[in-house]
Amino acid sequence: MDHHLERVYETVVARNPVEPEFHQAVHEVIESLGKVITSRPEYGDYAVLERLVEPERQIMFRVPWVDDKGQVRVNRGFRVEFNSALGPYKGGLRFHPSVNLGIIKFLGFEQVFKNALTGQQIGGGKGGSDFNPHGKSDGEVMRFCQSFMTELYRHIGPNTDVPAGDIGVGGREIGYLFGQYKRITNRFDAGVLTGKSLGWGGSLARPEATGYGTVRFAQSMLENKGESLEGKSVLVSGSGNVAIYAIERAQSLGAKVVSISDSSGAVYDPDGIDLELLKDIKEVRRGRVSDYVSRRRSADFRSGKKVWAIEEGEVALPCATQNEITSHDARKLANNGVQLVAEGANMPSTPEAIDIYNTAGIMYAPGKAANAGGVATSALEMQQNSARQQWTFEKTADKLDEIMINIHDTCLQAAEEMGEPGDYVLGANVASFRLVADAMVEQGI
Ligand code: GLU
Repeated sequence: MDHHLERVYETVVARNPVEPEFHQAVHEVIESLGKVITSRPEYGDYAVLERLVEPERQIMFRVPWVDDKGQVRVNRGFRVEFNSALGPYKGGLRFHPSVNLGIIKFLGFEQVFKNALTGQQIGGGKGGSDFNPHGKSDGEVMRFCQSFMTELYRHIGPNTDVPAGDIGVGGREIGYLFGQYKRITNRFDAGVLTGKSLGWGGSLARPEATGYGTVRFAQSMLENKGESLEGKSVLVSGSGNVAIYAIERAQSLGAKVVSISDSSGAVYDPDGIDLELLKDIKEVRRGRVSDYVSRRRSADFRSGKKVWAIEEGEVALPCATQNEITSHDARKLANNGVQLVAEGANMPSTPEAIDIYNTAGIMYAPGKAANAGGVATSALEMQQNSARQQWTFEKTADKLDEIMINIHDTCLQAAEEMGEPGDYVLGANVASFRLVADAMVEQGI
């Protein structure tokens, strides 16, 4: 990194103390930008980078709610509206005990670049709460969502900021949030949230989109080397929405997926994951992956362990959470002969892990490129909402594929231009930065 970039990074660290994930996300992007920044003096004159690393608006609020015992509970809510150069702020809400301002900022920052790559005219934002939905009743989740929206509604709108789901926020939560927004505003603004149910403005293929898109991206990476997913064994981490549909798509292409996980441990199933069983456990019963082994003889549960030590994988699809692959895990992947890592989660690889992929010659696609299918399909949902249309599954899924192939090719082309062919990190950062930065320059300071 040159002096200028170094100084920008140091300012970010000084201005945002105790937010290591945000620092990490910023570092990873600006490390790629040396050549691009100097290539256009306007970027410097307009202080584009200095402006880009500062969110346009950060909202933090109290979320009081009443639990089933009648006790008042208090959580903290966040919405970081990071950048609106390309369109209304867009990005999910995460409900998880680990959520704090730094986590939401890192996710919002990533979202700006990811959304640019989709080519869908959406800015970037992210929100959430440290509320833990695990073990809560439907009534508690509903009251929490209603309280959360009682503050959030004033900041969002179909042309302003359009939240969706992320970890801990799925169809049920989006329903409760939408209901409260509608009650407060007296407006049926279908386009104010995405990830809605089909009956009231949701899009077909949205639940599948992130997982399907990640696998479509991995397919393109392999095709570029004259290979395919067929017959390959695949390690998937996580067991939520992204993991489930990554598994579904990988299996439909003839791959064998041998693992899933959650915060309690990893499951290894050498016969291949039984997807119907997994869906029943997760989507119907809201259970844990340990329930899987009690209903499947071929599988074993490794309490407290990760999936990365499993020796069978050729392709790794991290679909759980940030920094889930450390240098230790990456070394295991390299030693076990994994050839490709494509990220379904946001920033699941630590910087040290990425260094190891590079030295070991593992093909690697960062989340902001590989998992952009979810938010891209959210943008398709917004399109359907404004046109008051509902597209078929096929039409939506075909558009998603088209977008993912396009992102893949855009990343490769930018990397090539920068003189580093095959570097998806560089390609994704450079291509998306140019889109956002050009818009910022054109719109003035
Ligand atoms: N939370 C997803 C992401 O990380 C989807 C966001 C959206 O659909 O707005 O991109």
